[in-house]
Amino acid sequence: MTAFQGTTPPVWLDSSVQLMLGKHLLTCLPHEACGILLGTAAAGGILISSYVPLSNVAPDPLHAFEPDPREWVKALYSDPAPIGLFHSHPTSPPWPSPADMLGLEALGPEFKVYLIGSPGTGSGPLPVLNGFIISRESTEGKTAAQLLPAALQALLK
Ligand SMILES: [Zn+2]
Repeated sequence: MTAFQGTTPPVWLDSSVQLMLGKHLLTCLPHEACGILLGTAAAGGILISSYVPLSNVAPDPLHAFEPDPREWVKALYSDPAPIGLFHSHPTSPPWPSPADMLGLEALGPEFKVYLIGSPGTGSGPLPVLNGFIISRESTEGKTAAQLLPAALQALLK
């Protein structure tokens, strides 16, 4: 099944979430930051309204992320519901790595958005963000996940 034909829905990011992602990213440096995005999917796109930062327990947190399993399970029961995953690339541009693509397979179907952030170029905390829609295709009983670039829209209040 192809979830999205043609164009991907836009991803709306609450301005407070944008700030939270940026601050968490900076707090974790030089390590990668990770966390769960909370929100809702609607006809007009996906709205990310909140963020739950998680501890990165990867053996090599400089170049990888692995959310703390207890925090992860707890976050899965958040309200609003988890809708996406965020992690940072402290020293490289926010594009998915081969390891990121492998990790996609472990995400449940409730995860629809994938955000990667890198430190911003200005002096403020706002990160450089790339957003993707997680698309899952099943062929012969096997599900393959891929990332489709999505338009990220900041929602100002
Ligand atoms: Zn990555």
